[in-house]
Amino acid sequence: MTSDITRLSASELAAAIAGGTVSSVEATQAHLDRIAHVDGDLNAFLHVSSEEALATAADVDSRRAAGEELGPLAGVPIAVKDVVVTKGLPTTAGSKILEGWIPPYDATLVERIKAAGLPILGKTNMDEFAMGSSTEHSAYGNTKNPWDLERIPGGSGGGSAAAVAAHEAPLAIGTDTGGSIRQPGAVTGTVGVKPTYGGVSRYGLIAMASSLDQAGPVTRTVLDAALLHELIGGHDPHDSTSIAEPLPALAEAARQGATGDLSGLRVGVVKELSGEGYQDGVSARFTESLDTLRSLGAQVVEVSCPHFTYALDAYYLIMPAEASSNLAKFDGMRFGLRIEPADGPVTAERVMAATRGTGFGDEVKRRVILGTYALSAGYYDAYYGSAQKVRTLVQRDFAAAFAQADVLVSPTAPTTAFKFGEKLDDPLAMYLNDVATIPANLAGVPGMSVPNGLSDGLPVGFQILAPAKADDRMYRVGAALEAALEKTWGGPLLAQAPELKTTELTR
Ligand code: GLN
Repeated sequence: MTSDITRLSASELAAAIAGGTVSSVEATQAHLDRIAHVDGDLNAFLHVSSEEALATAADVDSRRAAGEELGPLAGVPIAVKDVVVTKGLPTTAGSKILEGWIPPYDATLVERIKAAGLPILGKTNMDEFAMGSSTEHSAYGNTKNPWDLERIPGGSGGGSAAAVAAHEAPLAIGTDTGGSIRQPGAVTGTVGVKPTYGGVSRYGLIAMASSLDQAGPVTRTVLDAALLHELIGGHDPHDSTSIAEPLPALAEAARQGATGDLSGLRVGVVKELSGEGYQDGVSARFTESLDTLRSLGAQVVEVSCPHFTYALDAYYLIMPAEASSNLAKFDGMRFGLRIEPADGPVTAERVMAATRGTGFGDEVKRRVILGTYALSAGYYDAYYGSAQKVRTLVQRDFAAAFAQADVLVSPTAPTTAFKFGEKLDDPLAMYLNDVATIPANLAGVPGMSVPNGLSDGLPVGFQILAPAKADDRMYRVGAALEAALEKTWGGPLLAQAPELKTTELTR
């Protein structure tokens, strides 16, 4: 049974645990064994918290034995992206500057995970401070794509996506500032959701760009994402941007969608998010899935969002501007690394310079410099101010498009997983991975990537966007598409991934 346990979806595993056929300890141990067997190659985890996970699992098992009423995902293990602070567990955000830092508190979403009885397997690898699309900017080495170990798992949350795709964890947490949940989802054949801005608390996320960051679920099924979203989401007084309203009924929407009836639903194809720059196989799978949605009763219309063309440019001013300010706190005085200058006086400024010079990688430095420049006197209006105006225009495009369609759709990423090194020396080529995902962050609307078949043997993603606070709509459409596509594939897309060979984890 143990090898099969890791193949179950989170909702199946939760049912097995609730029904008493599998204990949470068995489920947790099965995933820890899987990590021990395959993560030597994958490097999806920066830290594995076996003892803590097994202790939580044992606690859930005894509470269940005592007849306690437990939540829908109780006992199901989860992995957490290393940009989320976890009390007592190392948290590095993929950076050397935080090496050795142990947070004194839990992020709100971690508190909720713990309260619901989900054992935390460990912390997943990522591009440093969530800047990147490949995990190549992690200070702790790349994560490999389980579909092809020579290829990137997406980024910044490549560790969470690879862990879920490789059956090391049935659930994971990601964060998405410009696409870091959805693009890794697309290239690993997993489901990734960026909730409505304010839908999931940001308290305890190490901030990259506060007006864009959102945490969300990384899973193998749409229903699992909905269940996890319901668990971590909802109002939090610790986050001033948290929406003070209950979440829509997400799992219910996913269950309804899976029945396959989309009659009356208007699906808008965003003209600006297709065509040139999108790989042929990506476009072909996208067009086929539009036919699938039509066959389920949806009406497919074309919509135009003319300012999306400038979204990437606006993002690469707003995001670095906010990041340059958020990252100012890593100064060698408060957290993690502290480097004193090799010679000369030990002044605060020289310690900060030495610490930041050593502790930050090239991509982080590039963005801090860019952001500081964009905010500097004399340039503020020309760069940051103009970018904020573009942001408003993107929001207006969304409003106009959602007047014509209930959901908007596009390919999630323009290409399948590329090889390591292919885009590392060309930041602009790397940035283009997020051309289809960034508009949602600028406008705060929710977005989801669902597995959409293969192109040359590698997964591609289908993106669904909904109006703010209408996350339930995308779960309904995502579940309907997933159910229809899995019928044609004869099961989950991940069943077609190659078997990973066993390499013991020695770290
Ligand atoms: N790849 C994008 C970037 O590098 C998005 C990052 C993210 O969503 N955290 O900024």
